[in-house]
Amino acid sequence: NEKILEVKNLTKNFEMGKGKVLKAVNDVTFHVNKGETFGLVGESGCGKSTIGRTIMGLYNKTSGDAIFDGVNIHELNEKEKFKFHRRMQMIFQDPYASLNPRSTVKEVISEPMEIHGLYKEKTEQLDRVYELLEEVGLNRDHVNRYPHEFSGGQRQRIGIARALALDPEFIIADEPISALDVSVQAQVVNLLKDLQTEKGLTFLFIAHDLAMVRQFADRIGVMYLGNMVELTDSNQLYENPLHPYTKALLSAIPIPDPDMEEKRERIILEGELPSPINPPSGCVFRTRCPMAMEVCSKVKPVWQEVGQNHYVACHLYDDTLDEKEKEKVEPV
Ligand code: SF4
Ligand code: MG
Repeated sequence: NEKILEVKNLTKNFEMGKGKVLKAVNDVTFHVNKGETFGLVGESGCGKSTIGRTIMGLYNKTSGDAIFDGVNIHELNEKEKFKFHRRMQMIFQDPYASLNPRSTVKEVISEPMEIHGLYKEKTEQLDRVYELLEEVGLNRDHVNRYPHEFSGGQRQRIGIARALALDPEFIIADEPISALDVSVQAQVVNLLKDLQTEKGLTFLFIAHDLAMVRQFADRIGVMYLGNMVELTDSNQLYENPLHPYTKALLSAIPIPDPDMEEKRERIILEGELPSPINPPSGCVFRTRCPMAMEVCSKVKPVWQEVGQNHYVACHLYDDTLDEKEKEKVEPV
């Protein structure tokens, strides 16, 4: 497996004024292999969109590195970053908000090609627009229509065509199906899968629940309050989740098989998601963790590989702690 993206100890803080700091992304490490789909999952506000935008170079990092194909993204100057964006593009959650309502489909899809000066001849550019529309399953006769004339699913297809316009290798899809009807979600996922096969694309696929990435992701990273808490192969994550937060997320997904459903315990998380401006001490999940122990409020669990390609940050899997420290306490 060839690594195309390496994110190393990436941290992103936002200064909120009056000395307050929002810790959006905290010391996150993962890599994405060429041609795979890496799923990044967690509740809204957990920092997954911030990771996407920081990798794109739209935000400066606070510390750590994001390295794409050997190039450190945050060491690029503006001109180099501009060129780099031909290789990495983004698809957004809300096609309504991300498409200019006053631009026709043709203008929306042509814009990146124009900005990057891809074609000298307008006719060549229009041919490419037609080609892209076909690739995303839209009718070329729609080229002069406006975004509001389309359904949510069609609008997302327009967003995908725009992202493909520069022929990128890597696409960060930030909740591309979350705003769509369930019936349409599968169609868009299938389209992305087909495009991946045809073009050899690599995806960083951001979603807020595990059900959405189950069919699509090769590996999955689970995030909570700016921290990555577990990372492994998709199958391994579903069959053998280790982190209490991952277990809770999985327990919320309905299983079609009633026998399985009976065996499984539904874990309801108590309490509110804490603020990333004032995160809990020790383990960030401890205020809602059903397994919280004494040590969890004092010591931040280290990110460690506990099985082959299976990483977790949780004291339950830390062999260096003695049993006394592992005494269970009620979440606070
Ligand atoms: Fe729960 Fe402690 Fe593990 Fe955090 S470190 S997930 S609080 S058991
Ligand atoms: Mg988001």
